[in-house]
Parts: sequence; C-alpha cells; structure tokens
Amino acid sequence: MLLTFEPVLDRIAEEIAALTERGRPADYIPALASGDPGSFGMAVAELDGTVYGVGDWQRPFSTQSVTKVFTLALALARKGEALWDHVGREPSGNPFNSLVQLEYENGIPRNPFINAGALVVTDQLHRITGDASGVLLDFLRAESGNQDLDFDRDVAASETAHGDRNAALAHFMASYDNIANPVPTLLREYFRQCSVEASCADLALATGFLARHGIRADGSRLLTRSQAKQVNSVMLTCGTYDAAGDFAYRVGLPGKSGVGGGIIAVVPGRCTLCVWSPGLDERGNSVAGVTALDRFTTITGLSVF
Ligand code: GLU
Repeated sequence: MLLTFEPVLDRIAEEIAALTERGRPADYIPALASGDPGSFGMAVAELDGTVYGVGDWQRPFSTQSVTKVFTLALALARKGEALWDHVGREPSGNPFNSLVQLEYENGIPRNPFINAGALVVTDQLHRITGDASGVLLDFLRAESGNQDLDFDRDVAASETAHGDRNAALAHFMASYDNIANPVPTLLREYFRQCSVEASCADLALATGFLARHGIRADGSRLLTRSQAKQVNSVMLTCGTYDAAGDFAYRVGLPGKSGVGGGIIAVVPGRCTLCVWSPGLDERGNSVAGVTALDRFTTITGLSVF
C-alpha cells in the first residue's frame, strides 16, 4: 500500500493537542524538570531515509534511555551471542533502577534496558572499543546524517551528581565480576550516553537499521537479520520500563522509551518512528508519546501483529 504519512501525523497532532492529561516531566535532575508537557513532536522515517514530521519533530531533546537500543546493537554486533553471558533478556516487572533482582540472579541483570543491564552493555562496548560513548555518538551522527548531534555536558554532569543509585548498581555487579572497567570509567561513559541530545527526526532515522533487518543507512550491515529480530524482540518485551505489556497491547510495536519523554518504535520492513513529549506517566513513559503511537498503529494498521 502506498501511503504518505503526513495526513496521519496531522490527525494525530490534532488529537494530542486535545489531550488534557499529559503527565509530568522527570524531576530527578533539574535539566529535565523544566520540560513542558505541552511540547509534542513526532517523526516517521521510511526505509530509504525519507522523513515526515509534525510539531516539535526537529527540536533536540534529552534521549536518555532511548540510547540503550543503540548501545545494545553496537555491543551485539561486536560480541555476538557471548553478550548474553553478561545480561539476560527477560522482562523485569520492576522499576528501571531496581537493585533487588540482581542479588537473586548473581549480578546478571534481567535485560539490557533496565539500568543495570544497560550498564553491563556499555561496559562491554567500552571494553571492546575503548570509547563506548564516542562509538555511540559516531553511529547516531552517521545514521541520522546530523553531524551536530552531541552530548549535553550539563545533563551528564547532573546525572553524575545524582548518580548514587547507578553507582550502587555498577559496584554491586562488579562484586560478581560482571563489570570489566573501573566503575568510575563506566559511569562516565553511561552518563555521557544518556545525555545525548537528538530530535525525533534524528532518532527515527538512526533507528532505521532495525526496520531494514540490520542494514545501516549507507547499505553496510551492522547486525545479522537474526540479531535485528532479537533486538526488536527485546524492545517489544522490555523496552518501556515495567509497562512493556501495556505498551505492546496498545501499540503493537517494538519500542524504547526514555525519561526525557522520547520513544522510538519500529515497524520491521516498513518504517521507524520517534515521538517526544516530556510529560511522563507514573512508570516513566511519555503520556502523549504512547497515545500518539497507539493512534498511529490504529489508524494505519501498521504493527507487527
Ligand atoms: N540517565 C537515567 C538514569 O540512568 C536514564 C533514565 C531513563 O531514561 O530511563 O537514571
């Protein structure tokens, strides 16, 4: 079916503008607390790099945990199946920064998208490349075509200043020999990673390799077809904190959210999406973002089911 996404996006933006309940921005660091829940942007990227957008779709925001998808893909591409010796792939059902399960599971985090799991993935990527956050930034710049993408140094500094829980997770896993780098080095890399600023357009484009079954924007292969399927599957089951079941029910797509209010989503073989609105629900997902993706799959019929 030939479909231009513009009318769909316009219709969704109109419906979102009428939403009265928009949630609240994350407030664990001051840099995010100032986000306006009234802001909304959405972009859809075709496999060939054509991008459609509405609202604040070109405005950079704090990507936060959305970057966990890219570090997972970059680590999996380099380490293959052995990555799963360090991190599981089961939904956690617990908050993203929970410590409790780690003790029962010998320092092996449940999945790569809770903080403990993302720390392990970044640790492995840094062990292999010596520059995890740099490799991530280069990848995002190349896939989005936006060489201006960068870390937000204030956000990274603020994450560091409020980083006790992530430090606790990293030290705890190090006590089980599941962290290869010195913990301060790992935390520096992880906080830089979380601080990347990018727009919906940038992130929809950068996610394209997951809709192209592992093929990057320049035609080279990052992941095998099977690995791309695996990353999409982990996004579907674990990508939206402890609300992944509800997200799958409503949206029917692999997706990954971040506390900056961004969510990326993949329609394998067809297109990728990114929505942003800083108001979060009590489980940390963007209220307007999830609603917009729900409306997108409902209106277009494009989902994995
Ligand atoms: N920088 C945040 C943290 O690790 C990421 C939170 C998120 O987006 O889930 O606490």
